[in-house]
Amino acid sequence: MKKLKILIIFLFCSQAYGLEFNGKFTQGGLIIGKTNPSNKIFLDEKPLKISPSGNFVFGISRERSKDLKIEIKSKSSSKILKKKITKRKFRIQRIDGLPKRKVTPNEEDMKRIRKEGRLIVKAKNINSNFDFFSNGFIRPLKGITTGVYGSQRILNGKKRRPHYGIDIASPKGTSIKSPNDGKVVLAEKDLFFTGGTLMIDHGHGLISIYSHLENLKVESNQQIKKGQIIGTVGSTGRSTGPHLDFRLYWNNIAVDPDLVFKN
Ligand SMILES: [Zn+2]
Repeated sequence: MKKLKILIIFLFCSQAYGLEFNGKFTQGGLIIGKTNPSNKIFLDEKPLKISPSGNFVFGISRERSKDLKIEIKSKSSSKILKKKITKRKFRIQRIDGLPKRKVTPNEEDMKRIRKEGRLIVKAKNINSNFDFFSNGFIRPLKGITTGVYGSQRILNGKKRRPHYGIDIASPKGTSIKSPNDGKVVLAEKDLFFTGGTLMIDHGHGLISIYSHLENLKVESNQQIKKGQIIGTVGSTGRSTGPHLDFRLYWNNIAVDPDLVFKN
């Protein structure tokens, strides 16, 4: 009888939370979830935004090794989940033949880099109430992957930050599609490192970035649909050939796009 009572309570609780996670609990993973909109969720003690339809999202950093603590609270109860993070081995990638100035910029360049960096940080920090992310992501471009997420970069023999994007090589002028619905939050034709650059807000702090574009086909503040052409492949900025550098950030945490695409 006691067992039955516990079972009933358990079923009642799961139903009350209506909790669902989609994605991999691994370094660079992105979790897209759903719960009853009246619930509250805390990730490592911090509240997560939950949309009116119960959608939420969070990212796991490349460096994360300790368990995630997820607390879920309904009106009548609460539960703590500990989620193990699977560790990954990241590659080392050497790229030579980059223009010296693009690897070790001069003083004048540094001024420009700092100014442009502030624009990017501002857009990365957007945390809107859209929940476009719940529609699932498609690949923005077909082509050969020439750079993966998380690899340690050695540029012209100098150790640099890990590469947080994926590089997809494709001929110059190839159309790039938006991987999901969103709103353009940055559209710049010529940034020092990233050249023609777009940033798209998918909601709740999830922002995608497209670099080295030849042409931009959308403007800042424009609302866009999944599959819409947003620009064309180029080799602008710090680049050795036509390709798209695609990145996905959740609240400034870079996640692995290859773990997110549905195709
Ligand atoms: Zn790249």
